[in-house]
Amino acid sequence: MNVRGILRSIAAETQKRLIVAIDGPAAAGKSTIARAIAQRLGFTYIDTGAMYRAVALWALRVGVDLDDLHRLEQLAKEARIEFAAGDIVLLNGEDVTSAIRETAVSVAASKVSMAPGVRRAMREEQRRIGSAHSVVMEGRDIGTVVFPDAIVKVYLDAAPEVRAGRRAAETGEMIEQIAEQIAERDHRDRTRTEAPLTQAPDAEYLDTTRLSPSEVEEAILKLVRERTSNGKERH
Ligand code: C5P
Repeated sequence: MNVRGILRSIAAETQKRLIVAIDGPAAAGKSTIARAIAQRLGFTYIDTGAMYRAVALWALRVGVDLDDLHRLEQLAKEARIEFAAGDIVLLNGEDVTSAIRETAVSVAASKVSMAPGVRRAMREEQRRIGSAHSVVMEGRDIGTVVFPDAIVKVYLDAAPEVRAGRRAAETGEMIEQIAEQIAERDHRDRTRTEAPLTQAPDAEYLDTTRLSPSEVEEAILKLVRERTSNGKERH
């Protein structure tokens, strides 16, 4: 049986949805890899960063002070964030797929995500999605906080200059500016009190600095195969 078939039978046996958690710093290539893995496994791909970005976009549009924890929590609870085919992100029914990628939103998302009430609302929604579907979910706290029992956890990393270079190639922005912005976001993510970015003790650390996307993909699929044939889900 191939890995997809094995996963399907485990899900049927255990009546559980399976979670592959991919965490790591900004621009480590999580989205590309998570999307590809989801496709290979037949799982739903969830980009949790897009959820924080959507809340940040709404806060910027309505002029909420990014230090106003109470208002941010209200917005996060009220926000209707949906994922549609083709990696489309909807906020209250509006397609915000490109709007949430703007630099101002990246910076605001990293501030908004420090608010405990915002994280609580996003976490609840992420758990709801993960209880309804088998998912490959990527973010900063998926293996540590959202799904500590995920069947596979990966911490994806790469040298800062490589991450900035890859992002610059994608967006056409200046590499120096991107490097600075990424360093600032990573610092906030790593040092915040609530669900900081850190590697879960049982996560596999993958340094992608010298690896191609297909090498990373194969490494993760190998892990999925190992965990599903001898791992905890089989006991
Ligand atoms: O992944 P991405 O860079 O799009 O995420 C935008 C921001 O959302 C991050 O800088 C981080 O502050 C926040 N985030 C988070 N927890 C997650 C996913 C993203 O705090 N699980």
